[in-house]
Amino acid sequence: MLKNRRSRLKMFFDKYSLKAILFTDLKNIRYLCGFSGSEGALLISPDFACFFCDSRYTAQAADEVLGAEIRECGAVRIEAIAEIAAEYSFDRIGFEASHTTVTAFHRMADKLSGIELVELDSSLDGIRNCKDQSEIEILKSVASIASLSLESVLSFIKPAVSEIDIAMALELEMRNRGADGKAFDFIVASGERGAMPHGRASKKLIQPGDLITIDFGASKDGYHSDETVTIACGKPVDRAFEIHSIVRTAHDFAIERIRPGISCKDLDGIARSYINDKGYGEYFGHGLGHGVGMEIHEMPTLSPRSNGALEEGMVITIEPGIYIPGFGGVRIEDTVVVSRDGCDVITTADKQLLIL
Ligand code: ZN
Ligand code: ZN
Repeated sequence: MLKNRRSRLKMFFDKYSLKAILFTDLKNIRYLCGFSGSEGALLISPDFACFFCDSRYTAQAADEVLGAEIRECGAVRIEAIAEIAAEYSFDRIGFEASHTTVTAFHRMADKLSGIELVELDSSLDGIRNCKDQSEIEILKSVASIASLSLESVLSFIKPAVSEIDIAMALELEMRNRGADGKAFDFIVASGERGAMPHGRASKKLIQPGDLITIDFGASKDGYHSDETVTIACGKPVDRAFEIHSIVRTAHDFAIERIRPGISCKDLDGIARSYINDKGYGEYFGHGLGHGVGMEIHEMPTLSPRSNGALEEGMVITIEPGIYIPGFGGVRIEDTVVVSRDGCDVITTADKQLLIL
């Protein structure tokens, strides 16, 4: 499995004529060697890998790291990296520019003098775009925990309960069902607050007739889920039904069209043009979706400005919304795995307009 993941680095070795790549982003390190701690570095060449950590992580690294030599280093990690680079004659090393601070870069340039350092942009993170079978299994499991947790807390949602109480009940339920934690600060936006696409749960109390947008996800084994429902607490006004139906149809249209080869921009356009045709285009301001995996937001992005196309194994969200200032909003979001000829929806909470 790791061999397959590391084979995705070949295009970077070739394109930039690199002898090795130095990884400092912990997501990429975990992906490429299995280490799940919070500090370390990984140097990979086409036929050698070395993981660097300090003494706090030596035992954990011995337990987790696969396919790499483990080198415990002192206070200045880059000195240990320089030793290995000299030993193996690595005279041209790529590094993750988008995950390197200016301070770290200067230290690296100082200690690795004589070695050409090549900035690799965030396209390097694209090695994680297409998930392998083991990742898909974890993503399905974490999505299921989150979806079932939401169903469990629906009975708790009633007038005079606060948005933050709903968020806390949901997080507790996820942990009880085996999640390591929440994937992000949940959005619970009720009534007029629903017009804020990223309205974090507040102390506002739920009122009868409120639409409530709940955007939630769990995390487990380094992976995340992402899902949104919009429900009603008691019967809402007629306009709420209209907006919910438009968003739901836009969401369904996009999911029906998912397959390898469709451009990310075109997929966004399918949902966007439907919402436009219904007269609500100005109230759908964000992209249709994004990749999800070790990061809650990762590549690819689905928006009018996106490049590229979907590929089998990508895991993406589809999340159209309509947000009307002074009224409220609706968003519906599912996470799907792009399959050979379509997609599998892995988030399972009911996307009807539930009236509690
Ligand atoms: Zn979300
Ligand atoms: Zn999302």
